[in-house]
Amino acid sequence: MSGLLHKHLSAWFGAPERFGSLVDGELLQGHGATVEIIDPASATPLLEYRDCAAPGTLDAIDAAERGFSAWQAVTASARGRVLWRMGELIRQRAESLAILEAVVAGKPIRDTRVEVLKVAEMFDYYAGWADKLHGDVIPVPTSHLNYTRREALGVVAQITPWNAPIFTAGWQLAPALAAGNAVVLKPSELTPVTSVCLGLLLHEAGLPNGAVNVLAGLGQTVGHTLVAESRIAKTIFVGSPETGRAIAETAARNLRPCLLELGGKSANIVFPDADLHRAAKGAQAACFAAAGQSCTAGSRLLVHRRVAEPLLDLVVGGAKRLKVGAPLDETTEIGPINNARQFERISKMVADGRSAGVQVLTGGGRPDGAGDGYFYAPTVLGGVTADMTVAREEIFGPVLSCLLFDDEEEALALANHSPFDLAGAVWTADVGRAHRVAARVRAGSFWINGYRTLSVMSPFGGMHGSGYGRSSGYEGLLEYTQPKSVWVETASDAPQPFGYADD
Ligand code: NAD
Repeated sequence: MSGLLHKHLSAWFGAPERFGSLVDGELLQGHGATVEIIDPASATPLLEYRDCAAPGTLDAIDAAERGFSAWQAVTASARGRVLWRMGELIRQRAESLAILEAVVAGKPIRDTRVEVLKVAEMFDYYAGWADKLHGDVIPVPTSHLNYTRREALGVVAQITPWNAPIFTAGWQLAPALAAGNAVVLKPSELTPVTSVCLGLLLHEAGLPNGAVNVLAGLGQTVGHTLVAESRIAKTIFVGSPETGRAIAETAARNLRPCLLELGGKSANIVFPDADLHRAAKGAQAACFAAAGQSCTAGSRLLVHRRVAEPLLDLVVGGAKRLKVGAPLDETTEIGPINNARQFERISKMVADGRSAGVQVLTGGGRPDGAGDGYFYAPTVLGGVTADMTVAREEIFGPVLSCLLFDDEEEALALANHSPFDLAGAVWTADVGRAHRVAARVRAGSFWINGYRTLSVMSPFGGMHGSGYGRSSGYEGLLEYTQPKSVWVETASDAPQPFGYADD
């Protein structure tokens, strides 16, 4: 372990070997199997811990039930103040969080710095909502008063992936807490460190013990136990479509709802009248940021045949110039793939694409000079057709599949020829076309002459293969509430409802 990692882990946990799960406000060692975290940049062991396992998970749910009562007893304004303090504490510890995230997840430090500040913004934003969430008075006849209460759900489970650990954790913790819920969060077993840090900071900010518990452990042990438990009011899952399906099936057995944020295969459509330099830069950012390990990645570039050659020249040239390197190098633009399994999946999908006849215009393997880490060069695939696997399946790596079209209808048909409906973009100077296309592409988020901008104020999510429900914004807050309809009879001669027996 590097001295830097040792220093930062010690600052948070006392010593690296004390890293574990946060249950009822205490850091605990699990009693399950040992889980090893591998450094994505060197493919060597980084840290190990014991899986929290099923008994630890059930203890965390007990603690969360107590934490829920304690959090409910805090006034809405005071809950908001805890979230405000959380935003400030994140800013105070931002550099340490950014370093831990960069090392463990393998993301460039320049990106993790931005992500950590975004997490602080999430707490700021939802702090403001805590005392503005209320029900309505419904205009029923005056013989009755009918109003709704916006109530918290209770104890919710949040299960998150490895590609943006702190971002995803903050994204779900902040609205859940603003609405008054207690949480059991299970981050990916590969990247649990910064999520446990957020749990510690929330307690420092004044959260009652047990209102947030963060469990370090595997999906099959901790994750499954959580979802199968009937005391969990709702499961919020961010991850792969395969796991999302398994989780929805398990939760359904208890008749419990889920919110699923799954994968994507988003289309980035370039018309001939677009500013090609900007579109090429946008295509690069869309697909190669986070080494393509991003659910919103614009991994399908749909280009009008007339501008295919100049645009692809620009995109390929840009891809070659991107600096692939170690996460803590300040100049690194693209870090390694997070883990060996994902690296092999990307390699296999590109190899299968080659066998199916695609041309590798750049990349297609380890970049020159990369060490033993899971580095994969930014890759552009030409000659891709709509039914090829590289055009339909999420690769979750820095691989851009380029397809050509001849007119708007064909572009729309290609864009919608996907099992996913998460995001997309169009590049054009024609305002009418931009809005027409935005209206007709199936996607939860859509950009016009841009890509990737996201805000905690704006709803985010997908449909069909990309899951259901919304995160962020007011819609994201409502996902953590349910309305209760309360009736008061205001007049003694109120008309008797159906089924009332007369004296
Ligand atoms: P994954 O599905 O393998 O794992 C996600 C989480 O689920 C992990 O915490 C894992 O431990 C847990 N898990 C695994 N099996 C489980 C089970 N049976 N029961 C309960 N929990 C279980 O996903 P991943 O490989 O970590 O992440 C990559 C995927 O996440 C990609 O498909 C990506 O598109 C998706 N993703 C989606 C969004 C979005 O907002 N739409 C954001 C980020 C990532």
